Amino acid sequence: MPFRVATEGGEARPSLVLVNSAVAAPDDADALADVDTAAAWFDAVASALPPGELGDDLGVDAESLDALRQVRGAVRQILLDRPRASSLAVVNRYDTESAPSWGLDLDGRGELQVRRRLWGPGVESWLGTVAADCIDLVRSGGRDRITTCATPTCQVVLVPEHHRRRYCSPACAHRTRQSRYQQGRATRS
Ligand SMILES: [Zn+2]
Repeated sequence: MPFRVATEGGEARPSLVLVNSAVAAPDDADALADVDTAAAWFDAVASALPPGELGDDLGVDAESLDALRQVRGAVRQILLDRPRASSLAVVNRYDTESAPSWGLDLDGRGELQVRRRLWGPGVESWLGTVAADCIDLVRSGGRDRITTCATPTCQVVLVPEHHRRRYCSPACAHRTRQSRYQQGRATRS
């Protein structure tokens, strides 16, 4: 099942990837509608990340689906709405307890290594990353620049990296330019 999972640009921020999961399944359906759909979507999210970022345990069960939905609701409210204390508590807790960090290690020959330290399985550590990213969006002022894709039928939210970047994807920009062109032709003829 092809999911829309941004791998680059301003909508690739983990917190927005989670918010955009609401329209990431085919026909703009919710990628967190059920366990099977969520598992396939999370596979797509994980495979867009560098190897080792989330460990090997990428399974989604009923409990981790609940967690994904809970954090999505909290992040959505914080970034796009008037936040409530309960949402802040969810994000702060995942940031503190689950966000992956870097640690130092020695390999078999005593050489210094930097290694990803994961606090929990795939979904949980990714939600930690999401929480940290959500806090960073508020701290950096990125929250104030969040906007919806300029294609009227598209509900993907993004942080434009440049003032001119208003579309979530080249495909959306192309579609909108083409329909403007066709409208222009229709009014001229
Ligand atoms: Zn779009």
